[in-house]
Amino acid sequence: MTQSVDVVVVGGGQAGLAAGYHLRRQGLDFTVLDAGTAPGGAWQHMWESLHLFSPAAYSSLPGRLMPAQPGQTYPDARHVVDYLADYEKRYGLPVQHGIRVDAVRRDGDRLRVEADCGAWRARAVVSATGTWSRPFIPAVPGRGIFAGRQIHTVNYRHPADFPGQRVIVVGGGNSGAQIAADLALDGDVEVAWVTRRPPRFLADDIDGRVLFDVATARRRALDAGRSDTGGVASLGDIVAVPPVRAARDAGLLTAKPMFSRLTADGARWADGSRVGADTILWCTGFRPALAHLAPLNLRGPRGHIATDGTRTLDEPRLHLLGYGDWTGPASATLIGVGRPARDAAREIAGLL
Ligand code: FAD
Repeated sequence: MTQSVDVVVVGGGQAGLAAGYHLRRQGLDFTVLDAGTAPGGAWQHMWESLHLFSPAAYSSLPGRLMPAQPGQTYPDARHVVDYLADYEKRYGLPVQHGIRVDAVRRDGDRLRVEADCGAWRARAVVSATGTWSRPFIPAVPGRGIFAGRQIHTVNYRHPADFPGQRVIVVGGGNSGAQIAADLALDGDVEVAWVTRRPPRFLADDIDGRVLFDVATARRRALDAGRSDTGGVASLGDIVAVPPVRAARDAGLLTAKPMFSRLTADGARWADGSRVGADTILWCTGFRPALAHLAPLNLRGPRGHIATDGTRTLDEPRLHLLGYGDWTGPASATLIGVGRPARDAAREIAGLL
């Protein structure tokens, strides 16, 4: 069965909900299709000890402040899931869970959105599918030879899954640092933390509030034609959240440079040194989940989809929301996605 609607939002995580909030304010008829069977997007799947790097009030979607979590300055992932579930309900957003969109294609003056259970003809589409479903692991010599277990950030839950094991954590970003700290503080896991370049910790007093202010100041400077302030990346990579600080201060978070190859029983460096391992834990990031857009043939020479803000240049009826700074400053964060969502909804209203 094919249904007609003004706008289809693909993905019902925080970005999809923020889009829904603003589409509603524009008075548009829309539906949100979400592959997840429950509200909360990627936050449902994060590891147990994960805490936000900003206080609740600085982690809010448009219209409704995230309430503080009792006893926690930095809320945990469960609290975010509860907040998103409440947000969806409070605003009566028409989210249909358990529907995975396979394809978006051109269909005359409409876009056709296809899923297993049916199709939608829409005048515009907002794609907000995040990155969690596309974990990235780099090609490293020997990856196929290593006889132990290889997992990614998306598979990590808690240290109890690695009793007495030797684990090599790869990755110098926030996930790598937090998971290495989590394992190291547990005491029952032997951890080696490996990063491509020396880890860059942000000053202890810098949290998501400061990062958001810096990202916003950069955007304002660029919009006003002033010189690039360097933004968040100029400050460092790793937010010193309390567990990271604790592990670092206890001397448990010292990074080794990247190994040159994996062997059957661990990793080897160019100088001949070796570390044995039972598990390699790749905290090496994600890529945007955009496979459903393949029929639109929008990818440029380096696989990139060109956008102006959130609007794709080669298909003005399609907006991309929440994947990273290329779709709006800080748009992959809770507090940052509101503004690009508002801009996308306004542009769509103008177009229709
Ligand atoms: P997601 O939350 O991934 O939601 C996408 C939704 O789309 C999912 O429900 C998925 O099921 C659905 N979907 C995917 N493909 C399809 C399809 N084909 N059809 C239908 N539905 C589909 N941000 C902060 O603000 N503060 C933090 O402290 C913070 N910490 C982070 C820590 C980690 C480890 C990570 C990975 C991210 C963190 N972020 C943080 C960043 C950000 O908030 C999250 O990545 C966020 O989940 C992105 O939201 P999203 O809505 O874009 O994507």
